[in-house]
Amino acid sequence: MNIHEYQAKQLLSQYGVSVPQGKACATADEARAATTELLAKGANRVVVKSQTHAGGRGKGTFKSGFKGGVKVCATADEAAQTAGSMLGQVLVTKQTGPEGRLISRVLVEQASNIKSEFYIAVLLDRGSSRPLVMASTAGGMDIEEVAAKTPEKIIKETIDPAIGMMPFQARKLASALGLKGNLIGQASKLLLGLYKTWWECDASLVEINPLCLVENDDGQEALIAVDAKVSVDDNALYRQKSIHAMRDLNEEAPLEIEASKHNLNYIKLDGSIACLVNGAGLAMATMDIIQHFGGSPANFLDVGGGASKDQVTAAFKIILSDANVKAILVNIFGGIMQCDVIAAGIVAAVKETHLALPLVVRLEGNNVELGQKILKESGLPLVSGDTMADAAEKVVRSTLD
Ligand code: GDP
Ligand code: MN
Repeated sequence: MNIHEYQAKQLLSQYGVSVPQGKACATADEARAATTELLAKGANRVVVKSQTHAGGRGKGTFKSGFKGGVKVCATADEAAQTAGSMLGQVLVTKQTGPEGRLISRVLVEQASNIKSEFYIAVLLDRGSSRPLVMASTAGGMDIEEVAAKTPEKIIKETIDPAIGMMPFQARKLASALGLKGNLIGQASKLLLGLYKTWWECDASLVEINPLCLVENDDGQEALIAVDAKVSVDDNALYRQKSIHAMRDLNEEAPLEIEASKHNLNYIKLDGSIACLVNGAGLAMATMDIIQHFGGSPANFLDVGGGASKDQVTAAFKIILSDANVKAILVNIFGGIMQCDVIAAGIVAAVKETHLALPLVVRLEGNNVELGQKILKESGLPLVSGDTMADAAEKVVRSTLD
């Protein structure tokens, strides 16, 4: 689960990471009031930042034509006007896809006088099975691009989870970033706070991009988290109640929310062959075999071990709401599940949804004969696959005709 930037900054500041002063606002008037307050406290300017889980806001464009999801403003009027141009509008960035995201909140915060930008993050390194702290002087940029083009600019420090991040590791990273003097101490405190946030919040990712070296009015240099992203492991949400309460369903794929209501494990992908499978392992193997025969899966869908007729119907409806889908592959192994129940579910779902796309079904296991009989006698134009390979080949071929 992801949270918004303003929520991530609240969490980080609880762990001693310095973030700009600011406030999340839902209306232009709130943005005006927040700006007036920040200016009164000594800010020279404020930044108005669209809140959405998608990144790349700075370079994004609203569907209204308004350019930039992150804007520096000098007066309360200007901030109110900017907030008014963002709120209730749809922002399109590199990460949102063409449909964009509706902005219903902006973060108004004290603008920083930025001298340089860094990247820092804590994530789980699957290779070493350990937490990894990553840092780079190429801050403010797309880190995937930095990793691809100039991997030498990324510094890594592996953490022993039993001990946690050690102060020397934080200092090592700070000096590798080229920081000097008291900034080493500041950076170390910040990195240790970042790691602690990651660990205690059960995060899968905590990322600050950019972490900025700023010059305050008194001429002093300081480090501050100008942007923040926190992703929390869904499996830990049961014990992260205050973070769970930050969930914003408007930011999640509507089909995935619908699927979770029916206890279906559905993840939308960008291919054209939908699959409906029981069991996560079989579902993954099904996606692989579709790919093997030259197709590309439109989704991951595990209906679980004991899917009901209603769940199968709901699953078909979800699959069919994806406009990219050109054919469907049902791959069921009746272990706990009875093939005749699933067959009856398929027949009902096909009739209810007036399915017009090619449908290939492969059934195996408990009551398979009865299941096949139900499918055959339904008179529906579905194709049956004898083996998984046969079914996958047939469904891929059906999209080529
Ligand atoms: P993102 O585009 O969604 O990653 O949003 P960011 O919060 O990273 O903002 C994009 C860019 O806006 C940053 O990389 C900064 O260069 C700039 N920016 C953000 N806040 C400030 C600020 O307080 N002062 C100045 N001068 N620039 C800022
Ligand atoms: Mn950013």
